[in-house]
Amino acid sequence: MIKLKDVSKYYYNKGLITSGITKINAEFNIGEFIVITGESGSGKSTLLNVISGLDTYEDGEMYIEGKETSHYGEEDFENYRQKYISNIFQNFNLVGSYTVYQNIELVMLINGYTKKEAKPKILKLISEVELTRYKNTKVSKLSGGQKQRVAIARALAKNTPIIIADEPTGNLDKRAAESVLKTLAETAKDKLVIVVTHNYEQVEKYATRKITMFDGKILEDKVIVKTEAGKIDGALESKKMRGLSKLRLGVRNTFNIVPKFLLLLTVFLFMFAAITTEIAGLKENKYEEGRVGYNSYLENKDTNRIIINKSDKSPFTDDDYQKLESLNNISKIQKEDYLEDLNANLYSEYYYLSGRVIKRTDTTPDLGRTIENDNEIVIQIHKENNTIGDPEKILNKDFMYDYRDSDAKLKIVGIIYNDDLDYEAIIEVSENMIDEFVLDYIANHTSQTLTVNGTDTYCNLAYIDNVADGSIYINENLNNNNYPIKTISLSLSNTYVNKTFDLKVDHVLNKNNAKKLTGYAYEDYTCYLSKNLIRNTLMNDKYQTSIFVKDEVKIDDTIKDLKNLGYSTYAVKDMLINESATMTYIYNIINLVLMIIILVVMFFISYLIIKLILKSRKNYYTIVRILGGSKKNCKSILKIELYTILNIAFIIIIGLIYMIINGMIDISLKNSLKLLNLREYVLIYILIFALTYLISVRFGRFIFKESAIKTYNEEEE
Ligand code: ADP
Ligand code: MG
Repeated sequence: MIKLKDVSKYYYNKGLITSGITKINAEFNIGEFIVITGESGSGKSTLLNVISGLDTYEDGEMYIEGKETSHYGEEDFENYRQKYISNIFQNFNLVGSYTVYQNIELVMLINGYTKKEAKPKILKLISEVELTRYKNTKVSKLSGGQKQRVAIARALAKNTPIIIADEPTGNLDKRAAESVLKTLAETAKDKLVIVVTHNYEQVEKYATRKITMFDGKILEDKVIVKTEAGKIDGALESKKMRGLSKLRLGVRNTFNIVPKFLLLLTVFLFMFAAITTEIAGLKENKYEEGRVGYNSYLENKDTNRIIINKSDKSPFTDDDYQKLESLNNISKIQKEDYLEDLNANLYSEYYYLSGRVIKRTDTTPDLGRTIENDNEIVIQIHKENNTIGDPEKILNKDFMYDYRDSDAKLKIVGIIYNDDLDYEAIIEVSENMIDEFVLDYIANHTSQTLTVNGTDTYCNLAYIDNVADGSIYINENLNNNNYPIKTISLSLSNTYVNKTFDLKVDHVLNKNNAKKLTGYAYEDYTCYLSKNLIRNTLMNDKYQTSIFVKDEVKIDDTIKDLKNLGYSTYAVKDMLINESATMTYIYNIINLVLMIIILVVMFFISYLIIKLILKSRKNYYTIVRILGGSKKNCKSILKIELYTILNIAFIIIIGLIYMIINGMIDISLKNSLKLLNLREYVLIYILIFALTYLISVRFGRFIFKESAIKTYNEEEE
């Protein structure tokens, strides 16, 4: 069965060579119960390890069923061990955190049994070693004798022809030792059993052959009971470990030792949290960057605003508004788009204030009172951060503003403190006043040309109610060639409108009649038109609409929807001019580099912590290998353990993010986390997955640096 011919094994240790066994010649066969004795250091363990394929030999040849093994590599020995060898050790080599049942199940799963196939056999073995009561007890809680009986049951669970026991009773008291040996002898008939012991008397009654060793050599080899060289009973078992079994063990190991699980989970949560906040931070920077900048044409620069018009430049209809209302993520549809972009500059002797003009609100002023007259205004202003200093100073003061009548004044009667303001100030005016501002705004945004007999002429245009619809009051300056103008043409044109009117000259204004006819003081080169003319031609139809989105993060979806409906879109966020773009670019690159550094540092910290935590697993994987598991099996089990924790951590993190986004947990990360979408979550997952993979590879290398038995020996010291 197994034959050794001049086999020698040397140990190389820090430049020193020790001989383990020297020129051993022996043959071992099925049916024998061989007892090896000899003093400490005589080479007994070395011999057993060589026979077990747990260690290599340097000289000579070992034959397995007649086949040479000197050319065997690691995998060949893994195969050999799996098919032929079961080991029992002095210090049991059981997985302390597994139950009795799980310890025996382990060897069966490694050797290709399914959980279901294994069960009846495990129960039978447990009853044979009289441990049925302790079936579900963790092995770490058992006595030495009980542990060794578990080890025997485990050795028998895998149906190998050879059982090798190295001082199986060394750690047991006399009674326990006897019981263990009896069990071993009874259950291991028709196998080759090799037992090393210090105490020959204990084994004497079972032995068929006694070998005494001294100084690495066989001193005496004595047959006590003659046996027939038996045949291996049945076919050799050599099934590959199943994927499901690896999964089962990986998951079992994840939760097996609770403190270890919690520590690892903490490390993974930390990795996820760090990467998630880092990526969310980068995303937020990019997003915020898109929200700053200036645009001199727009007064309301809210980045959740989208200005739209119809592609054919035709006016909006009720149909259009209905379509717009049916869209998602819309907070407001501003049909009178120009109301968003009214502006006024207020100035007095001491103060200058520029602000967005809006229709009066219901807010009660913090200082002063609400608007009662058309020349009164309420302003919203930052309490501290404003250009006035003490806002109280401007209360009840008159301000001039850029209106055609330079005498017109607005009086601040109320002040509202508003620290959320994006503007210097908001100027609230009465409904009638808004009308004035709108007219002014629209007139200012429309090119107006006067022509007399086809020749352009110039006049400041103002709009008042006194003038009839088809008429104009012209200034006397226009008449300077003594040729009185009877009619004059007015062309109004902007993006949407292009119209020409022939207007009848009703009056020629001079210093004497101006105030009476218009209500305003006389000014050179000023002509007056009907307010209704502007209203009817430029304001009746709405060519432009502003849409405000509820959730700015999803604004691009809304823009897409609008485009699909056939509108031209002008998102404010895309119309802002950012002068610091290059700086931001550099800043972003620095951020990215920082993130990579953080990732690398994190990888090493995590690796070190995980290595520390998993160090206790080194023993576990050594046991798996001794039981016939391959390196590959161990790596798979380790990976599954880490991936299980990774997924649990990921689910927890997703849960936390969900709660933060929905306001169940109140932390400042909310806004940046909201920006993350599926793509980023996948990226985060892949990053951590890759880190885990690298960690498992590195750790795998660390576990398998040495052969199984060397690793095992080191652990013992
Ligand atoms: P036994 O089991 O009979 O006590 P061993 O086989 O353990 O003997 O040891 C045989 C010899 O090999 C001893 O001299 C021992 O010091 C040496 N030896 C055993 N294991 C190692 C090792 N890992 N490194 C170096 N020398 C070793
Ligand atoms: Mg020994």
